[in-house]
Amino acid sequence: MNPGYAMLFEEVKLGPVMAPNRFYAVPHASGMTEANPRVRAAFRKTKAEGGWGVVSTGAVSTHPSSDDSPLPFARLWDENDIRSHALTTDAIHEHGSLAAIELWHGGAAVMNRTSRIPPYSPSGIPWQATHVGFMGQLRPRIMDKNDIKDVIQWQVDAAKRAQQAGFDIVYIYAGMGYLGYEFLLEEYNVRTDQYGGSVDNRTRFVRELIEATKDAVGETCAIALRISLEELRARKSEHYESQAHEVVSIMADLPDLWDVKMDSSPTDCGASRFKAEGSHEPVIDFVKKVTGKPVVGVGRFTSPDTMVSQIKRGILDFIGGARPSIADPFLPSKIKEGRELEIRECIGCNICISSWHDGVPIRCTQNPTVGEEWRKNWHPQIFEPAESDDQILIIGGGPAGLEAGLTAARRGYQVTIAERSSELGGRLNFEASLPGLNAWARIKDYRLYALKKMDNVSLYTESELSLENILELQHQRVVIATGARWTRALYSSLEIPLGALAGAEVYTPDDIAEGIIPQGKTLVYDFDNYYLGGVLAEHLAKLGSSVEYATPAGHASAWTIMTNEQPYVHQALYALGVAIHTQTLLTGFEQSSVSLANIFTGHTSAIDFNSVVLVGLRLPDNKLYDQNMDAKESVKSAGIKSVERIGDAIAAGALVHAVYSGHQYARNLDKANRTYLRDVPVVSNGPGLAI
Ligand code: ADP
Ligand code: SF4
Repeated sequence: MNPGYAMLFEEVKLGPVMAPNRFYAVPHASGMTEANPRVRAAFRKTKAEGGWGVVSTGAVSTHPSSDDSPLPFARLWDENDIRSHALTTDAIHEHGSLAAIELWHGGAAVMNRTSRIPPYSPSGIPWQATHVGFMGQLRPRIMDKNDIKDVIQWQVDAAKRAQQAGFDIVYIYAGMGYLGYEFLLEEYNVRTDQYGGSVDNRTRFVRELIEATKDAVGETCAIALRISLEELRARKSEHYESQAHEVVSIMADLPDLWDVKMDSSPTDCGASRFKAEGSHEPVIDFVKKVTGKPVVGVGRFTSPDTMVSQIKRGILDFIGGARPSIADPFLPSKIKEGRELEIRECIGCNICISSWHDGVPIRCTQNPTVGEEWRKNWHPQIFEPAESDDQILIIGGGPAGLEAGLTAARRGYQVTIAERSSELGGRLNFEASLPGLNAWARIKDYRLYALKKMDNVSLYTESELSLENILELQHQRVVIATGARWTRALYSSLEIPLGALAGAEVYTPDDIAEGIIPQGKTLVYDFDNYYLGGVLAEHLAKLGSSVEYATPAGHASAWTIMTNEQPYVHQALYALGVAIHTQTLLTGFEQSSVSLANIFTGHTSAIDFNSVVLVGLRLPDNKLYDQNMDAKESVKSAGIKSVERIGDAIAAGALVHAVYSGHQYARNLDKANRTYLRDVPVVSNGPGLAI
């Protein structure tokens, strides 16, 4: 280990327990609920195994009045839940780490759609009532004093269950719009009793939660307070620098640990496209000056130098990691073993958080094994040895090809990757050069760094392979990873394909990637709806083109609401003067005039544009695969056992799909029995919970 990093491995006392080092896998949504107790135990276990000294659950509801459905959430309501969580604590303890549980009451930020209990709130004010996904018609009830007592009792009961389940650290949650947070903010809390008014009064509910939890389990468990400080820091205080300073001062030494963060998902879990590593620091930098208790915070930290600097400068005691611990559960071990160059760094794409929004267990662009540790027995560092001497020929060196090659090589296969262009990396070579996306190059950097060190790997660039080449090379396994191409297809408002948009001045992202700069006034028309349309508009505007953006969706880059990018996409386009036409269909382009129709009314306007960039449908580049299929006999007599497609060549998707597809191919090589376990809830105590 680099001796400069030794301080990252110091023990830190947390109330009655001792953290073995400063690496803290903080609470984060994983989409894993009581429906998947073994999946989540294996997911958290892997982090402990990889050296995270503390490993936390995500939000765990204390009572049916904290019910986030249809979003996935965990519970600790009864005996079954204790047994279910005990699988996780046992798994974490196996590796000597501490297990933390983020007990949570959602207050007015949940709709209790399943339990049908009116949501709890300090003053009846809903949280983000217009936010899609949280939108609902039931407004929250105003908590009376009995309700306050009840919520505190539910926290206490849940804390006792957590203790029984084996947790070492128990949270009180006062962040991200949830109940504790609502009490802290004057906009949500307009109470006139002792729980509202002054800052001191507004902290009372959170203080009582902490005190009651401490009384209940504080002898054996550390008590952590998770709190959002962004809004409070922006508010004036009479005697302190801000209300955040005041709140932290009032509760300074009450919890055993401060877990400090931002207020909303886009600022807290910012995509790298818009938020740099360590972006929370200006909000949370004061906390350690006010409290004598340890502080954990996050910031997509992947560089050990940055981590050490955070500790040396007195910002944090623990290096909190949500995304870095997902992308590489073995990040701490790699630093400890002097292998920091092998860290699979998070790229900040936020596909992980999109899984929660999708309501499914977590997935990650960089780490294809995430969520599959138990289900498919995929370990991020352990690879089953090759079961044959087959040589693997991979055609195409994009994310899918590189991941397939790396995983097959790690299993011990002899791997050849042939890439047509002068650089390995496929679509990343262009996309990572676009505004804000340079961290995405880590997908290829991580893989190439590993591949180049392996004796059983041959990498070729400027090697476009034909069917003849494939037959000559006589590898037993052929993998077609040739990617996909953007088309000029259009759709009607009923999502019926309309055929291609013709014209010399109609371009696709592939044309822009090849260096074409559309001339004159340019319209980017986007019905792909992920990042590329928005970022290409940004790119062209930055090159000095006059650009407008149109989409049939209600927002620019509409799907990026799933990855926390959408507000910033709009801000970036606005800052560059790119006009945005939403709910708009492109219906024609002739003689420098584009017909744009309102998607609902059909009302059409003709607007002058010289060029159109169409970001719509991508289709696999299947030429080589089809030729192989047509030449089955020659393929067989060349000794080729299989020809398979992976990544965009099988189905065009996001980078996460390509990496996963490549990984899956290599894991399954020569395997007759492909594990795919189905998890079931722990119900040994029978169903039933009286509320
Ligand atoms: P994916 O995301 O599935 O990895 P990419 O489009 O990023 O797909 O990468 C596909 C790669 O395949 C590109 O780098 C492209 O240059 C390469 N490629 C396509 N056809 C051939 C071929 N016949 N021989 C070698 N490389 C090819
Ligand atoms: Fe990082 Fe993207 Fe993986 Fe999330 S999905 S952990 S942001 S690489």
